[in-house]
Amino acid sequence: MNFDLERIRADFPILKREVNGHPLAYLDSAASAQRPLAVINAESHFYQHGYAAVHRGIHSLSAQATTDMENVRLQAARFLNASSPEEIVFVKGTTEGINLVANSWGASQLKAGDNLIITEMEHHANIVPWQMVAQRTGAEIRVLPLNDNGELALEALAELIDSRTRLLAVTHVSNVLGTVNPVKALVAQAKAAGLVTLVDGAQAVMHGKVDVQDIDCDFYVFSSHKIYGPNGVGILYGRKALLDEMPPWEGGGSMIDQVLLPTGTTWNKAPWRFEAGTPNTGGIIGFGAALNYVESIGLDAIQQREQALMRYALDKLASVPDLVIYGPQDRAGVIAFNLGKHHAYDVGSFLDQYGIAIRTGHHCAMPLMRRFAVPAMCRASFAFYNSEEEADRLAAGLTRIHRLLGG
Ligand code: PMP
Repeated sequence: MNFDLERIRADFPILKREVNGHPLAYLDSAASAQRPLAVINAESHFYQHGYAAVHRGIHSLSAQATTDMENVRLQAARFLNASSPEEIVFVKGTTEGINLVANSWGASQLKAGDNLIITEMEHHANIVPWQMVAQRTGAEIRVLPLNDNGELALEALAELIDSRTRLLAVTHVSNVLGTVNPVKALVAQAKAAGLVTLVDGAQAVMHGKVDVQDIDCDFYVFSSHKIYGPNGVGILYGRKALLDEMPPWEGGGSMIDQVLLPTGTTWNKAPWRFEAGTPNTGGIIGFGAALNYVESIGLDAIQQREQALMRYALDKLASVPDLVIYGPQDRAGVIAFNLGKHHAYDVGSFLDQYGIAIRTGHHCAMPLMRRFAVPAMCRASFAFYNSEEEADRLAAGLTRIHRLLGG
């Protein structure tokens, strides 16, 4: 396909700026992606022309804002191929979505002696909420390990499952290694054993089409800010039959049916039961614009472009002396590496001097760092708005650091 990179980069005003006297090479989209003008303008337009409290007012502005927000719920349902918009819960992000499931489904379903399975490659957001609910309920956490290649040791799953296993929570794509997990097969295996399944899609939805009915998971979670939308918005997809049975986890306005004193309050139906308080309406409107933007380019085109760019970047990085690249050959969006014996922070600080923004540290995946016996990694992430020239600059920058500091 003909990918008009110049036109696409013009949609993202921030990509034109300079950092430390160099044009910005933004290779940190996996941490948070930049926003196109379409998103910035949609949010700004809403505040200038359409803002009012939702779900509460009889007046026209409030009714319109409510309709606009509910239309984004419809859009998100279509985006994930959910069978109904009532399977879409607005949350603050992936972290809140997982905490919601842990505190609602987990706290009400898990009992002492039950166990749940997570993996060694999870982001802390898909570890800590489960540890907290396990502590409260007496459930045990089991861990599906990684192999040396940075892929899940799939054959170990059957041994972890027993008659007290209740849940499998797994990331779709590793935020550190870019490993794409075979979530459809994992969910099928888990479901055959009667487990509930949650897929963390924070690093997946921006790289290719996701179909929750095809994956057949019970929960799927992602954040708007990773798919070119505003911060503070995310989506929890939940299978309707499960959401309908789950208790609320936060109380307040909007999530009730009737409030009685001193007790006896009843709940609104799902998904509104899980949306206490005034939502981030402007962010939700911006998120709708982000989905429109991504769909106007096409996820297939985005995937092809990103894969070509990744191959190009990996090829260029192969010539950097003493560079260790972690993870499998096939990967989505990110390249994790270390340069010789140098700490990732030093490498990242040097690259910043050349205007190149990458992420350094433990990437909220300390167990994965431990698995690879390193305190930290560098991570360059590539979005469809990145260029081959930026990959060249990354490779040249690393070669220069190696020349200055040695191996
Ligand atoms: N899971 C994964 C795989 C992630 O990459 C991230 C963000 N780095 C999260 C969860 C948490 O997302 P958020 O901070 O937007 O809630």
